Amino acid sequence: MTTLNRDFDFDALNIMREKYHQERDKRIRSDGNKQYHEPKGQFSNYAKDPFIQTEIKRDALNDEVEVVVVGAGFGGLLAGASLREAGLEQKKAIRLIDQASDVGGTWYWNRFPGAMCDVESYIYMPLLEQLNYMPTEKYASGSEIFSYCQKIAEHYHLYDNACFQTEVTEVRWNQELQRWRVSTDRGDTIMARFVCMSNGILHRPKLPGVKGLENFEGHAFHTCRWDYQYTGGDMSGNMTGLENKRVAVVGTGATAIQCIPKLAESAEHVYVLQRTPSSIDVRNNCPTDTDWFAQQAAGWQQERRDNFNRILSGEHIDSDMINDGWTDISKNLSALLTNNTDIASAPDQIAKYAEAIDFNKMSQIRNRVDEVVSNSETADKLKAYYRAGCKRPCFHDEYLQSFNRDNVTLLDSQGKGVENVLANSVVVDGQEYPVDCLVFATGFELNPAIKKKAGYEVIGKNDLKLSDKWEQQTSSMHGVITSEFPNCFIISNLQSAFTVCITHSLEEQARHIAYIILNAKTQDATEVNVSKEAEQKWGELIVAQPNITEEFYNECTPGYYNREGEKNKLNLHNRSFANTVEYFKTLNDWREEGTLKGITFD
Ligand code: NDP
Repeated sequence: MTTLNRDFDFDALNIMREKYHQERDKRIRSDGNKQYHEPKGQFSNYAKDPFIQTEIKRDALNDEVEVVVVGAGFGGLLAGASLREAGLEQKKAIRLIDQASDVGGTWYWNRFPGAMCDVESYIYMPLLEQLNYMPTEKYASGSEIFSYCQKIAEHYHLYDNACFQTEVTEVRWNQELQRWRVSTDRGDTIMARFVCMSNGILHRPKLPGVKGLENFEGHAFHTCRWDYQYTGGDMSGNMTGLENKRVAVVGTGATAIQCIPKLAESAEHVYVLQRTPSSIDVRNNCPTDTDWFAQQAAGWQQERRDNFNRILSGEHIDSDMINDGWTDISKNLSALLTNNTDIASAPDQIAKYAEAIDFNKMSQIRNRVDEVVSNSETADKLKAYYRAGCKRPCFHDEYLQSFNRDNVTLLDSQGKGVENVLANSVVVDGQEYPVDCLVFATGFELNPAIKKKAGYEVIGKNDLKLSDKWEQQTSSMHGVITSEFPNCFIISNLQSAFTVCITHSLEEQARHIAYIILNAKTQDATEVNVSKEAEQKWGELIVAQPNITEEFYNECTPGYYNREGEKNKLNLHNRSFANTVEYFKTLNDWREEGTLKGITFD
């Protein structure tokens, strides 16, 4: 733990804050979020699924199910599992629909070499007790998580009625039948009593806004569509196809730092095209201690998740079960506040000491670069100058080490990014570098618009489109149900609360939805609606959430966390609970009360 004394040197912090601002300012672009290309039109190849083994051929469906779950990533899987756990046992009652060829969502698409989850597997991988599964390591690999997703689907019989390689094109309420009609790009017409949408948050890849991208004649792909046909090998590396290839990786975010060490082992040369360095803390992965795992008492996973969540939400807890880079900063602040009540009672003092703790942490991370990277010039370029939460914190024990290899070159663009792409080369900072392959580790669109997120329209009562209803302001109760859209449930980050352990949030929402659906079934209700009053009350609660994060992100270097530095664009109604513990408790208390307050059954 990086501890902080009260006599901290605030002058040093003031100087560093100035440096952070300079680094931010040179990265602010007038085109903000618009700088990126979507993988469509001339770039549509970048979105093609390279993992399809067999094209599914089937006739269009014309049938009815109890619940259609759109999206078969962790959100959809947890919706299915929660419905089963709550008693919806009939195998054909649930139909998962996904454009991918299998379940897994993020873990279906992101099969880049070295992919792993940077959140501890014992809390990230859900339902471990139900499936009696022991993750092999503290931080699980992407391939283990993907096959675990398949295990969940098998365990809960979610494959039985699933439709893959199928895109939903419209979800429309039929008042007469009191059913949803789900249409797909395969001509399916599926009637459903309930619809549960888990469309994902970071799933639409984006390409860098670089001149000449379309002119590149070498091989190019996005990390979430890794082309193993070209590179050879698999997620563990061994990419023999790259033996005599010069590969340029665009981006140095959480994805890039995981795949670069693997590329370095296989390619003739790797150019790392950096616009902003990531902060890279230690990983310390280790195999699971089987004795420790066997000793865990019933309910251990929930307890561990709650422990993580409470620490990250700022509670002071004596025992930190996870004890990693994620909990370090929060623990530090809560310990300081517990031991210094005068600071804890003054919000400006809390902010001041939070910044000091952050400064210490980031200094420690910058010092680590010097310890690991032998070339001091390269080391300097790899240092992150922004506050810890400005960008996704990264954890890795081989990334920085890659820069000590002769076949890895860091091309730092001083915050400007790649200048130009030519037929067989990239231009960075005025210099041309011939390359055979371009790997775009440039991340994903974060668009709160529901239609953009989902890729289809939801049409409720009186032909009301959800995108129209939410254009002015998102409105819901608990973030999962919205009026005029009966029997329709949404798993998302809007008007809810998301923790770093995203599967925890997904499972809390999934359980909540399953509770409402099963209650509706027990009471033989044909329509489940939320009252306008309940929706309005929830909206007021959301708008009243403290605005700390918005102020914080305004100070940050651009990235998707702060809409690439675009200020004041946040619709207050799209916000989430500031405190995840509180959100989960609110849902839980509501269920325990047992009156389904705000919901009407017809
Ligand atoms: P990010 O959005 O985090 O990173 C994109 C990278 O591309 C940034 O380094 C960005 O630079 C760079 N970039 C964009 N445009 C240009 C350009 N024109 N020239 C040069 N560089 C450019 O995407 P990731 O895929 O890395 O991560 C996305 C999210 O996925 C993470 O934040 C995390 O939530 C999740 N993830 C989770 C993992 C886990 O272990 N749980 C692992 C991997 C990803 P700049 O910073 O300057 O914008």
